[in-house]
Amino acid sequence: MRREQATRRDRSVPVRTCVGCGRRAPKQELVRFEAVDGVVREAVTPTGRGVYTCRDAECWDHAVEGRGFARSLRRPVAVEPELARLYTGVSHG
Ligand SMILES: [Zn+2]
Repeated sequence: MRREQATRRDRSVPVRTCVGCGRRAPKQELVRFEAVDGVVREAVTPTGRGVYTCRDAECWDHAVEGRGFARSLRRPVAVEPELARLYTGVSHG
């Protein structure tokens, strides 16, 4: 019954939604952000409300242009364009 074991393990993985494309993916596949004083930055604390995107510059663009961060955080936030550096050099997997 190896197949059942695999299924159970998959279900135990925490899943989060990318605010760029809306895809649901295991937390560890995503980049986590948080808002501090109304400014979005790369999450450094494990607590608090996080926002996630895929490790994909396209999702980042969508999240910024579609205001996915503000929507997810339920408040207006500023987004530092330099955060896009987190996605440079990342190839599509
Ligand atoms: Zn995405």
